[in-house]
Amino acid sequence: MQRVILLGRTQEELGELLTEMGEPSYRAQQVMQWIYQHRENDFSRMTNLPSALRHRLRETSRVNDLQIVDSSEDGDSTEKIALQLSDGEIIESVLIRRRYGNSVCLSTQVGCPIGCPLCASGMDGFTRDLTAAEITGQWFEIQRRLDPGSERISHVVFMGSGEPLLNYSNTLRAVRLLGGEDGAGISYRRITLSTVGLVPEMKRLAREDLPVTLAVSLHAPNDYLRDRLVPINEKYPLEVLIPACKEYAEGTGRRVSFEYAMIEQVNDYPELARELAILLADVKCHINLIPLNPVPGSDYSASSEDALTRFYRILTDLGLNATVRRSSGLDIDAGCGQLRRRITARERDST
Ligand code: SAH
Repeated sequence: MQRVILLGRTQEELGELLTEMGEPSYRAQQVMQWIYQHRENDFSRMTNLPSALRHRLRETSRVNDLQIVDSSEDGDSTEKIALQLSDGEIIESVLIRRRYGNSVCLSTQVGCPIGCPLCASGMDGFTRDLTAAEITGQWFEIQRRLDPGSERISHVVFMGSGEPLLNYSNTLRAVRLLGGEDGAGISYRRITLSTVGLVPEMKRLAREDLPVTLAVSLHAPNDYLRDRLVPINEKYPLEVLIPACKEYAEGTGRRVSFEYAMIEQVNDYPELARELAILLADVKCHINLIPLNPVPGSDYSASSEDALTRFYRILTDLGLNATVRRSSGLDIDAGCGQLRRRITARERDST
């Protein structure tokens, strides 16, 4: 029998489900608390529910339907976690422990249909969207692992595999469950959605009235280069993308984050830093310079330390807000679909 999955449902929807079971709808709030505040997945431990209901839920439902199958650590700050979905697909999440709190990086799709040549997520194509239960389930499992040490996940970034804005409604549902007071209660300001720059969906997001941070994978300051690195640029070129970013920043009062993967002798020349500064001069934004994480089978490599520093200095001298983000997961295949590729390759080899 197909069991009902409770994660990914709003309190109102849980209320409807419980009403159908003949329960008062206030039980939904209790169930939400067990799931999001206590991360309980065993109905028999939900002690303030009547035992008949606990029994009924055990027969018909599950809290979550994915499980951690592998992980690899890099020192004590970054952990890459592979999770298996009920249909056998593998997705990945990353846990990053920082002084200011724990962040998780979540996936929104199995594979990715966008196909940026610098990113491993799309290299094996696109399989399917994740459900809202599978998106919140990544947070749930990782937070459960942290629970014995009482460490709380304080930041969520949607920068795993997939394009969050292509799986718009499930991603937004997960955002509301993670950020909402009924759910996990993580501050919306600490939730970041990253996109390749899907302009209509960015405009839609601005209208949601959620103070989440929008990150845009820019990687180039002109269409000529960006068409190559982020091919969706042909559909939404910079002359429409940048005004949409400006509109987002002005409408929400939130600074837009631009991701710029530094690729040796491709997009790391000083004149491109100057071009970038002109492009973003009147956008309320922050630029993250990320040395490229080398992708097996690709010719691109990371910029040298010198090129990185020079690029950074030009931007900051011209008044832009920029940070060099070291990809701490480099040694453990973090980010960009690489763990999934490794696991699937291992499975392919062993069959
Ligand atoms: N599809 C969304 C979400 C993925 S986020 C997006 O593209 O924004 C992952 C971020 O890591 C994106 O900024 C992506 O461009 C970047 N990225 C992908 N592959 C990378 C690599 N090999 N090295 C550095 N950054 C990479």
